[in-house]
Amino acid sequence: MKRRDFLRTAAGAATALGALPGRIQGTAQEPAFTLWSWVSGNRDYDADDWRQQFARLREAGFHAVLSGGGNREIVSAAAHAEGLEYHRWFWTMNRNGDFWAKENHPEWFTVSRNLESSLEKPPYVNYYRWVCPSRAPVREYLSGRVGELAANPAIDGVHLDYVRHCDVILPRGLWDQYNLVQDVEHPEFDFCYCGGSYRAHILL
Ligand SMILES: [Zn+2]
Repeated sequence: MKRRDFLRTAAGAATALGALPGRIQGTAQEPAFTLWSWVSGNRDYDADDWRQQFARLREAGFHAVLSGGGNREIVSAAAHAEGLEYHRWFWTMNRNGDFWAKENHPEWFTVSRNLESSLEKPPYVNYYRWVCPSRAPVREYLSGRVGELAANPAIDGVHLDYVRHCDVILPRGLWDQYNLVQDVEHPEFDFCYCGGSYRAHILL
């Protein structure tokens, strides 16, 4: 779909959504917007601690929590017991925390124009280790992982983050922080040159 057509479609959808009563002004059953909070699932909390935390959020008007790790059963059960939705945050292409992939499939990780792997030489920060979407096993693996989460009744939703390659150029406001001048695309930040079949894939 061309960008112009996409925008037209999106505008139409927004208009249709706005026509629904209760969406714009909100109702007791369906508020105009919902309040969410990130929570670190890795805290050393037991079930009672989580319930206390979530009771405070509920009393403050929150509707859902979003967590990236920890014991999903305990955290989810506590959230649900307090009337909150429980959603998982998923690192999609940036798989720095995926010790299985790093150990078993180093070839899955993206390669810079300098032909260096993001696994061995992560760009910018130590947690920038990305897998390459040109590889069918990568796509199958990630699809399976997301599918497992989505099929779990303890999880109300899965949120995909890092659905992209590493930034070849950072926002201007970050150049000083990393002591960079990125007025051109430098090869050490330009991915992926792993020899996968990305162009062939997107043309299919
Ligand atoms: Zn690649």
